[in-house]
Amino acid sequence: MKKLTYLIFALFSATAFAQDVSQDMVKNVISTLASDQMKGREIGTPENEYAANYIAKLFKENKLEYCTGDSYLIPFDYKGKIAYNVCGIQKGKSEKTLGFSGHFDHIGSNDKPGDNIYNGADDDASGITTLVGISDYFKNKKPEFSMVFMAFNGEEKGMLGSTAIAADKKLDKIYNNLTALFNFEMVATESEFGKNAVFITGDEFSDLDELMNSHSENGLKIHPDPYASEQLFYRSDNVSFVKKKIIAHSISTANMSKIKHYHQVNDDMTIVDIENLTQIINSFGKTLEKLNTKNFNPKYNSKVKFN
Ligand SMILES: [Zn+2]
Repeated sequence: MKKLTYLIFALFSATAFAQDVSQDMVKNVISTLASDQMKGREIGTPENEYAANYIAKLFKENKLEYCTGDSYLIPFDYKGKIAYNVCGIQKGKSEKTLGFSGHFDHIGSNDKPGDNIYNGADDDASGITTLVGISDYFKNKKPEFSMVFMAFNGEEKGMLGSTAIAADKKLDKIYNNLTALFNFEMVATESEFGKNAVFITGDEFSDLDELMNSHSENGLKIHPDPYASEQLFYRSDNVSFVKKKIIAHSISTANMSKIKHYHQVNDDMTIVDIENLTQIINSFGKTLEKLNTKNFNPKYNSKVKFN
């Protein structure tokens, strides 16, 4: 009888957590993007294109559909050459869509001796890992909202990729249905609010954070931006969509008052908190699962500036 109880408990646990994203998956994705082989993923380099193809492969594994055409790769012009954003979509019960983004490019390498590669594990391999993780979480489900996943290129050269894809008319059908965009930017470390917690830029401009917190699962807490004076809301890829009047905020854990790895060669796997990142991804998954077109319709207030 005791054995049977254990067996039932073991089976129940396996079922209850079967959908969770694993730490192994998270570690695998972030360490691949942040590996020395990717040479800092600078736009215009073969390694940047290699990263785009790697993300496309992950989108395929997570059963996403193409956003447009016959590829996840969405080309745009960079100095007369082709560079790519990466875009995949999962159809939900509704045409209404939630968006998840981050930027996969970083700042390459320098010529100094020793460790000269800017791996960009936090900036922003962690954000890409989060959106890949969320797509992994939902890959065998039929969510209420449709979900679009966008990996932007060229952020470090002035938000080039997000500017290009936001202007791409072929994606207008998706944008017209976009209820909100969550842009993940540097989520590899524990936030100043502790574990399983993030902050959102521009919290005072919409009720997105209040709505998310009211549906919070698994202990997820979204805090107001503690660095509001830095105007991060207007300085990250989300702004390309703010200009289209789409609810779009960046989400981060970076402690801007203490951070020592920002745009340094030590932004590598040594600073990544895999356990916390995995928990954040699963908490987002479980919270997003509770949302539908009736209980989740965030709005801007009059404080936001669209240009
Ligand atoms: Zn960044």
